[in-house]
Amino acid sequence: MSPVAETPYWWSAVPMAARPPRPLPERADVVVLGSGYTGLSAARTLARAGASVVVLEKETIGWGASSRNGGQVLTGMKLGAAELLARFGPERARELYRSSLEAIDFVERLVSEENIACGFRRSGHLEAACKPAHFERFRRDQELLARAFGHEVRLVPKNELRAELCTDYYHGALLDERSAALQPAQYVHGLAAAAERAGAGLHELTPALHVTKSATGFRIATPRGALEAKDVLVATNGYTGAVTPKLRRRVIPIGSYIVATEPLDAARAQALLPRRRVVFDSKNFLFYFRLSEDNRLLFGGRAQFTPSSASSTRTAAAILRRGMLQVFPGLGDARIEYAWSGSVAFTRDLTPHAGRMDGMAYAMGYCAHGVGIASFLGDAMADAMLGRPDRNPFRGLPFPVIPAYDGRPWFLPFVGLWYKLRDWIH
Ligand SMILES: Cc1cc2nc3c(=O)[nH]c(=O)nc-3n(C[C@H](O)[C@H](O)[C@H](O)COP(=O)(O)OP(=O)(O)OC[C@H]3O[C@@H](n4cnc5c(N)ncnc54)[C@H](O)[C@@H]3O)c2cc1C
Repeated sequence: MSPVAETPYWWSAVPMAARPPRPLPERADVVVLGSGYTGLSAARTLARAGASVVVLEKETIGWGASSRNGGQVLTGMKLGAAELLARFGPERARELYRSSLEAIDFVERLVSEENIACGFRRSGHLEAACKPAHFERFRRDQELLARAFGHEVRLVPKNELRAELCTDYYHGALLDERSAALQPAQYVHGLAAAAERAGAGLHELTPALHVTKSATGFRIATPRGALEAKDVLVATNGYTGAVTPKLRRRVIPIGSYIVATEPLDAARAQALLPRRRVVFDSKNFLFYFRLSEDNRLLFGGRAQFTPSSASSTRTAAAILRRGMLQVFPGLGDARIEYAWSGSVAFTRDLTPHAGRMDGMAYAMGYCAHGVGIASFLGDAMADAMLGRPDRNPFRGLPFPVIPAYDGRPWFLPFVGLWYKLRDWIH
């Protein structure tokens, strides 16, 4: 039996090796830290407006979550409709919710304008109910989404679920037709090519080591030399490190894990998800899954509350395979060919944040819900940096520190236990 590849399945379609290094300029209008959706979307917009832009990437283009994720471009935020309304009031909650819809439209437009072949399609998403009570909550959500946000979703009761999702494991689902699917690594590589065409300089294997204030703005030290910038955008999300210590204390990196089966027979794949929707379920320790274009089942989840590493990925792969067989018991003979993980950034208030800290612009903390909003916020932060009208829906929100956190998330296993307990009780 062939061994399981411990790299993202998505990487098999893109060049992940670093390109030959290019000379680092001595100065730029803007230096962007990180080459995921946030950084590249911002770089493209800035360069199109005529700014000189340097993107520094510690690894290779798109290496972080942006080439590893489930490719679900989802409506809404990590916080549900009721929580958004309770926390932010009707007007701000409406603005935040609307931005999640605009973010999907933004990705769709970008993919089309830049000709990015990444399989973008409005697949729709299903949120599957793990308990009957969760389906009852979906009824309230449906009513609230329509009343407060003018957003229509459909309920799929358990006795009709097999038309959408061939399993008896769930107790119905909530269907949102606005959500989309894409191949994340192809999308981030297409975005990198678009940023380069606009004139941005991308520098791989070039971590920012220190950022200090200087007479003209900022001085950014890298192992390949230092450069001066008038402005800096921090776009490091779940990989935020010691170079921006204040931001690091506000986002916790948590591993998210995925396994991919071998390609399934087309009819068998179609039987699992007849409309090829993307799916996530209603637990805290959730499962999320979808089909790839070549009919693999990609099955992901939080699996365990740990930072992403090679050993946690192996443990998670076994947990996820068991989960996959609970949902789809008929897949016992389907070989797992890939298992991988990446870091998502959680914030204390489960809300993304974008603004300025220590003079630098930043956008991060997407709480595993970032394909659309990261792309959108990169563009919005670029506009703000260019002095255009501020479209950042998170402007002015206080960005709370995570108590007792200094970059070592020692408490994650305890948080995991607490969420497991909540899944069991609620
Ligand atoms: C397994 C997994 C599944 C997910 N599934 C989904 C999903 O289905 N739908 C969804 O909406 N979201 C999902 N997410 C979340 C989503 O992928 C992220 O929110 C999004 O990709 C964040 O993009 P980003 O550009 O902000 O950060 P990233 O793509 O993580 O990029 C940050 C980059 O910064 C670089 N970096 C860090 N420090 C430095 C430094 N000092 N100098 C230079 N570069 C540096 C890193 O190397 C990294 O490449 C998932 C995430 C994971 C890991």
